[in-house]
Amino acid sequence: MGFISSYWWLIIPGLLLGMYAQFKLMSVYGKYTRVGNAAGMTGAQAAREVLDSAGLHNMPVNEVGGRLTDHYDPTKKALFLSSDNYHGTSIAAVGVAAHEAGHALQHKAAYGPLHIRMAMVPITNFASIAWGVIAMAGLFLGMLPQFLGIVIVLFTIIAAFQLITLPVEYDASRRAKEQLFRLGLIQENERVGVSKVLNAAALTYVAALVTSVLQLLQFVMMARDRR
Ligand SMILES: [Zn+2]
Repeated sequence: MGFISSYWWLIIPGLLLGMYAQFKLMSVYGKYTRVGNAAGMTGAQAAREVLDSAGLHNMPVNEVGGRLTDHYDPTKKALFLSSDNYHGTSIAAVGVAAHEAGHALQHKAAYGPLHIRMAMVPITNFASIAWGVIAMAGLFLGMLPQFLGIVIVLFTIIAAFQLITLPVEYDASRRAKEQLFRLGLIQENERVGVSKVLNAAALTYVAALVTSVLQLLQFVMMARDRR
């Protein structure tokens, strides 16, 4: 039967959902990048306000190149905002900036899922490279069935990492919206836009998880058939 599994079609729903999530994020983010927020506040200023109100006065808010490269670095304890969101005064800019500040608030509050996710980064990085190497070696040596067990273990680590990422992402967005409204940085009629941008971003993480789980299922079905 060669190396094409009879369950190859399992990857299609994940691919379609992933494409839809990317399209949705680009269209929603694109739309709300063109809508200015009423306060005329930049993403950098909004992040600063959220951090300061949590007592994180010394945490730097840095500008970073690229599009939607915004992130919180827990090892450096610093925020990195893409140029568009750092300087932008749109609803999307303050939404994304506050979301990244939300991760800093999680860190300060010792939010459990964030710490589990941080602890899993090294082994997940290893698994992400190793599963492909081992699968290729298995194909090359004609021993893929014997190697499927280890591939399944490595892929389970990747899927578990993507699973723990979901509560971390949704909780950061929840904290972001809470702080933006509490601090009066966002008006009542701007809530919907912020929510739409953050939900679209979260959907890409859901798509990544679905894709991995279906790929894992494919390996499990292949292993089961070869018994
Ligand atoms: Zn996030």
